[in-house]
Amino acid sequence: MLELESHLCGRWQRGAGRGEPLVNPSTEEPLGTAASEGLDLAAALAWARDRGGPALRSLTFAERGELLRGLSRALHAHRDELIGLAIQNGGNTRGDAKFDIDGASGTLAAYADLGASLGAARVLADGEALQLSRSPRLAGRHLLTPRRGVAVHVNAFNFPAWGLAEKAAVALLAGVPVLSKPATSTALVAWRIARIFADEKLLPEGALSFLAGGPAGLLDALGPQDALAFTGGSATAAKIRAHPAFVERGARLNVEADSLNVAILGPDVEEGSEVLDLFLADVARDVTQKAGQKCTAIRRAYVPAGKVEVVVERLRERLQAVRVGDPADESTGMGPLATARQAGDVREGLAALAQAAKLVTGGGRREGKGYFVAPTLLVSERPAPGDAVHTREVFGPAATVVPYDGTAAQAAERAAWGGGGLVGSVYSDDRAFLAEAVLELAPHHGRLTLGSAKVAAQALPPGMVLPLLVHGGPGRAGGGEELGGLRGLAFYQQRTALQGDRALLDAIVGKAR
Ligand code: NAP
Repeated sequence: MLELESHLCGRWQRGAGRGEPLVNPSTEEPLGTAASEGLDLAAALAWARDRGGPALRSLTFAERGELLRGLSRALHAHRDELIGLAIQNGGNTRGDAKFDIDGASGTLAAYADLGASLGAARVLADGEALQLSRSPRLAGRHLLTPRRGVAVHVNAFNFPAWGLAEKAAVALLAGVPVLSKPATSTALVAWRIARIFADEKLLPEGALSFLAGGPAGLLDALGPQDALAFTGGSATAAKIRAHPAFVERGARLNVEADSLNVAILGPDVEEGSEVLDLFLADVARDVTQKAGQKCTAIRRAYVPAGKVEVVVERLRERLQAVRVGDPADESTGMGPLATARQAGDVREGLAALAQAAKLVTGGGRREGKGYFVAPTLLVSERPAPGDAVHTREVFGPAATVVPYDGTAAQAAERAAWGGGGLVGSVYSDDRAFLAEAVLELAPHHGRLTLGSAKVAAQALPPGMVLPLLVHGGPGRAGGGEELGGLRGLAFYQQRTALQGDRALLDAIVGKAR
């Protein structure tokens, strides 16, 4: 059986003890273990700071971008192998696996392009010179330099490839070394990626370390120049926020957590229209893609009260047509949940939703091996703030249709009952409705997608996170922000205000962009 190792201090090493198991969620067969007990994580972080940091900082943005391009190409070259591992360890269908792996190589390539566009600079100027007194000679400027710590990346189980790559792309381009820790239960894909990068020597020594196994002790050696980018559940995030690394030592923390994402159907959308089809396709896809285990998946679909019946019927037809099973069989449309714990949480969550909404299809348990749950649709007849539909993220194949009165104000008010989301989508051709919805929804969301007839043919699903747009959301979603092109780099950089003689500042900052 495979024993996953960690790549720390420049060598592969395994922790003590039996470690945590990795299983195939379709068959419940064990695949391997990962153990981190006893690994010297303080030494690993020091190694990354001392070796990886200077090596990356000595490179220009264009050179760092070239490193990212190499990583992107390597992932692409190993695509089929990685898809196979994602099917085995993640319960992914081939399509689910491609979404994760191609998302990883695409994000690395997008940041490689950004690096190329920044050329020979090593640090970034932030804005233009500002005149500080009557005389134009005294000026102020802002400078962004790479912090001298490590970027520790802790990822959720659902996107082992993309999670590693999207975080690493940003930190490495900023010039900061990375220690990446995937969720243990689905670590096989991330571990293989780390091996490929290390075996092919695609990065300078110390630029990318990898931890396989539990997180014990990982935060203890974080200092004021270090940063932790965390993706996972809000209960874990709450524990992390209270750690002395952040509360006392001032390490930076970015949290990407749960989200009860909304899709809102406008009152103008008619049966048979392209926009209705887009809405139905997006909701049905988000229930089934990765068995609903996507942080950006639509959990609540708001529909004008008079159209609920027809929308529910259409969604029921789509969801009942999906074949659930082992994704090793290519005819499978939806695989299992990733772990036994996940399956337990989802079944409990569905029972809680059923207290607040009526089950239309799905739910329940399947006999035999594997962590399968059927695509599930509910309809809420009396939505209320505080009910499970608006407070409980069921991280599986489930969505609830919620009626509203057809005004943007009420849709937005009900959307806000979710406490802050990663992404919301609005489907309408009524520009006034869309404009009002955007202004009301924006304070509660990190990203909004607008589906209208003009873009229906080329629309990107709301669940797809794009490297040049920010990813993150307020409140329940963690309050963090990742990606967004160059915006993402700021988390790993220090912004310093400089005051002095304008010509001097221009000479110092001048080489930066
Ligand atoms: P999780 O149980 O919170 O675990 C997430 C990660 O945190 C894992 O790598 C886990 O390691 C690690 N971890 C656990 N306890 C820790 C601690 N005390 N200190 C440091 N790290 C710790 O979440 P999950 O079950 O993997 O993922 C599901 C959740 O993630 C869902 O709620 C989903 O909404 C959220 N999510 C959010 C986004 C986003 O971008 N906003 C994306 C994906 C998922 P071990 O696996 O070794 O325990």
